[in-house]
Amino acid sequence: MQYLTMKNYIMINKGEIMENTKELSDKLFYEKKTVYQKCDDNIINAAYDYSIDYMKYLDNSKTEREAVITTIAMAEAKGFHPYKLGDKISVGDKLYYNNRGKNLLLFTVGSEPINEGIRISAAHVDAPRIDLKQCPLYEEAGMSFFKTHYYGGIRKYHWVAIPLALHGTIVLSDGSAVNIKIGEDENDPLFYINDLLPHLGHEADKKPMGEAIEGEKLNILVGSRPLGNEANAIKLNVLKLLNEKYGIIEEDFLSAELCAVPAYKARDIGFDRSLIGSYGHDDRVCAYPAVTAMFDSMDTKHTLLCILADKEETGSDGNTGMQSSVFVDLISELAKALGGNENIVRSNSKCLSADVSAAYDPNFPEVFEKRNSSLLNCGVILTKFTGSRGKYGTNDASAEFIGFMRQVMAKDNIVWQTGELGKVDAGGGGTVAKYISKENIDVIDLGVPVISMHAPYEVISKVDLYEAYRAICAFYKY
Ligand code: MN
Ligand code: MN
Repeated sequence: MQYLTMKNYIMINKGEIMENTKELSDKLFYEKKTVYQKCDDNIINAAYDYSIDYMKYLDNSKTEREAVITTIAMAEAKGFHPYKLGDKISVGDKLYYNNRGKNLLLFTVGSEPINEGIRISAAHVDAPRIDLKQCPLYEEAGMSFFKTHYYGGIRKYHWVAIPLALHGTIVLSDGSAVNIKIGEDENDPLFYINDLLPHLGHEADKKPMGEAIEGEKLNILVGSRPLGNEANAIKLNVLKLLNEKYGIIEEDFLSAELCAVPAYKARDIGFDRSLIGSYGHDDRVCAYPAVTAMFDSMDTKHTLLCILADKEETGSDGNTGMQSSVFVDLISELAKALGGNENIVRSNSKCLSADVSAAYDPNFPEVFEKRNSSLLNCGVILTKFTGSRGKYGTNDASAEFIGFMRQVMAKDNIVWQTGELGKVDAGGGGTVAKYISKENIDVIDLGVPVISMHAPYEVISKVDLYEAYRAICAFYKY
């Protein structure tokens, strides 16, 4: 036996302690890591490939109406058929319910009893934009403009002096509808909201940013060439051109939904092409994974429901928003058709409220709490609660449901993180989660971190997008 002096005894003991603390910290600490640290090249390459079709989806789905049309075309190519309330439903069916062209509910009927509940994902396909008023067109000082009322939470100064496209639907006096999309083709004209030149902006620059551009200044420039010499000759020329192309007269604006959206296309961002810049990531970056995960989950025994909602950005009101009874009605129809009890079906259903959250931004650290913010590239986010000022207006997912999701994520090695929308009392926001959970369904927010959320051009990471897709696949499967 070796004789230990006091000195080398302490040294050996110290070494053991150091060895033990390393082991202990590896075992006990929770450490957030990036997808690049945790996943092999197969996953990362798959993420970059997956983003190619996502970017096409973005360009083809700038409004909720276009997202519904684009998604239906994708669904039909995968064997989905249209459904109306009251239609027969059988095990194995792949159906979609088109609610007024702005809200889409896709569902597949699984083999397990319907009373076991439904796996639901709910994303939204409306996005902040500039809506036209009902009497929009006027002329002043050699220019013709559209009056507007912005839609959703925007920073108004973002929307001046950028290229805009015009999208929407006009219902004519005979009831027929004309769809409009001008500014997306590179030969199309664009539209524009004027801004003040810096030379004359000295007084305006002293205003708080929120007051820099008033809502009534968001007038869209649509022309300057007169037709004839009478009053309103520029406005007349605009109407003549619209009449020739679409057969509309000024009165048709009364029954129209037209909006201006950024004319930018989705593009790779960064030398390494790791990010995607686009209008409307919020919330196509969750809608697209929710839909494609459903298409790729045909072997599950669960009944699946994927909801693409409208009106989230203005409070989920209206009959195409998540506060509408439509999804409860559909669950009721499913229960009836498959011999279940709708109350039991809802109580056993689980839902991902698939919506984005704010990525921690080192340029604005003052509004984030770094330990609890989502970080770019650290995977899909599970957000326990949203709301503001003492958790008002939140679903607040239960520990039990988060525990369930932890197990689901672990089974497929999904890289995920928690998130919150900024510092306590810095602001806040909500999602559709609370409107679904009040129907006695377990709900948690799941989404992708976004940089510059609600700006005309937002940024997300390709690997986060792909982890959202993998997470929703796992949720549908287990
Ligand atoms: Mn959203
Ligand atoms: Mn939003």
